[in-house]
Amino acid sequence: MSAIILDGKKLSKVSEDSIKEKVKKLSLQDITPTLATILVGNDPASETYVKMKRNTCARVGMKSIAVELPDTSTTNEVLSKIQELNNDNDVHGILLQHPVPSQIDERLCFDAIDINKDVDGVTCLGFGNMSMGIEAYGSCTPAGIIRLIEHYKIDVEGLNAVVVGRSPILGKPMAMMLLNLNATVTICHSRTKDLEDIIKKADIIVGAVGIPKFIQSKWIKKDAVVIDAGYHPEKCGDIDLENIENIASAYTPVPGGVGPMTINTLILHTLQSAEKTSSS
Ligand code: NAP
Repeated sequence: MSAIILDGKKLSKVSEDSIKEKVKKLSLQDITPTLATILVGNDPASETYVKMKRNTCARVGMKSIAVELPDTSTTNEVLSKIQELNNDNDVHGILLQHPVPSQIDERLCFDAIDINKDVDGVTCLGFGNMSMGIEAYGSCTPAGIIRLIEHYKIDVEGLNAVVVGRSPILGKPMAMMLLNLNATVTICHSRTKDLEDIIKKADIIVGAVGIPKFIQSKWIKKDAVVIDAGYHPEKCGDIDLENIENIASAYTPVPGGVGPMTINTLILHTLQSAEKTSSS
């Protein structure tokens, strides 16, 4: 039997239509869900990501406020902008585009974001709450992956889940989300020994390494669920998806799998934050 394609493009489109309807409803109460994006410097990839996020807001009728700061900005300058947005009742979500220039203390800036506006799930408090099963906006890429696997009714309880990568925005929160769904989770990273053997035992594998086609398809167990979070200019991910439809039971294509779910989850969280300010 051929594998199920975990189609993030399709799911995000369906979700966008429903978000659009809810935005319309909120407008009856004079509430426009608003995302503030902060871009520091002019890294071309970051500029593109911010533009994609703002375009998505526009498509669903949400407002976005673009804050652009020079690449010579100091930590204090970014912090003071974040404080201003925290205090602005018309702003429901704040996104500080990662990475920021090296002179800026990114962690300090992330943690300055009001927990109620941390729609990108980057604060330590948000991560801690999510890990403890307390309501929080999870980091958007792993939260989008969870939405995708839940939509396709993949039950991860009891499965051996292997997450390759431990970054604060992807690997670590991914592992905690899978653990909260009762998977048995192994987190691998650059110092992991015998990676191939660990991957060969995985019932569900998440590639979040940042190296094109790093995880080989021949390491993947028959009928495993394969999630590729990577995205590279050559239009491939972190997993070699060659012949994957005959190996996996389900997999995310690249492009069109995890990527569209990330931005969709960001705007969904911004909508949810705005809904909390509504009277009904
Ligand atoms: P990152 O911060 O660079 O983290 C990469 C992780 O991979 C680190 O934990 C690193 O281990 C681990 N790693 C590196 N080399 C390894 C090796 N040889 N063996 C095992 N593990 C190794 O990257 P990231 O931000 O998490 O992103 C990961 C991937 O996801 C990238 O391809 C990125 O483009 C993609 N991404 C996609 C989206 C989306 O919306 N689709 C969003 C974010 C990221 P150490 O911790 O030991 O260094």
